[in-house]
Amino acid sequence: IMVGTGKGAEHGILIKDAESLEIAHKINTIIFDKTGTLTKGKPEVTDIIAKRELSKEKILELAVSLEKGSEHSLAESIIGEAEKQNISGVTVKGFKAILGHGIEGFIEDKKVVLGNKKLMEKEGIETSPYEPETSKLEENGKTVMLLAYDNNLAGLIAVADTVKESAKAGIEALRKLGIESVILTGDNEKTAKAIAGQVGIKRILAEVLPEQKEAEVKKIQAEGKFVAMVGDGINDAPALAQADVGIAMGNGTDVAIEAADITLINKDL
Ligand code: ADP
Ligand code: MG
Repeated sequence: IMVGTGKGAEHGILIKDAESLEIAHKINTIIFDKTGTLTKGKPEVTDIIAKRELSKEKILELAVSLEKGSEHSLAESIIGEAEKQNISGVTVKGFKAILGHGIEGFIEDKKVVLGNKKLMEKEGIETSPYEPETSKLEENGKTVMLLAYDNNLAGLIAVADTVKESAKAGIEALRKLGIESVILTGDNEKTAKAIAGQVGIKRILAEVLPEQKEAEVKKIQAEGKFVAMVGDGINDAPALAQADVGIAMGNGTDVAIEAADITLINKDL
């Protein structure tokens, strides 16, 4: 154990719990979180599409106004794009974040909702006119956020996050060891599939709400598998704790590192 933890540390692998070293050789399935684990976690805005009376600039302005109240990595991408275009936010009243769905609030007494399709469905907002465009962007691995203004869909904002250079080779090395890799994400099925394809992962668990990630780990364990989970977010912490071995990315949140048995300091898969 001493030699192993020492060697690990030399390679940027911090082993907190010696027991996890003993279990590690039994692992036959590794579940990877998508954003920030397989991808760099720095999404950038690639497309802003305006369909109705609102301009692209107005859509970005509404979006950035809401996202200022959010801590999501998608918020950072929108705030970054608004800065680039010199667009600043306006006052939002009644801000609300809906876990795994998006955000909403009131701007000049009009309700503004920004998030995924599930959120629009919840709000009773029709998304079918945007379906073909949304699907195309998602099939290219982009995450699409829909923006509704005054109860009508007004535009969409797509962001792209690039996969880590080490991801594909890492997954391939695991495959050669007989270990199956799985992707687990709150993002939609098509985007998850595209990213999984880029890194060579075949098993996809998408549109999983934060509170369901732990249950997905349990389900795979119930198949008789020994499961490691790799993640970086607050969302991932219960799943990291549930897995036989929990592995946090060194650039991840403190909560994830706390919940994990092992931390990868150099975020290299
Ligand atoms: P992930 O597993 O990628 O961290 P989350 O469960 O946090 O995903 O979010 C799932 C989806 O909900 C996102 O892909 C996005 O469509 C939507 N969403 C969540 N938070 C926000 C936000 N602050 N702004 C816009 N959309 C959001
Ligand atoms: Mg993540």
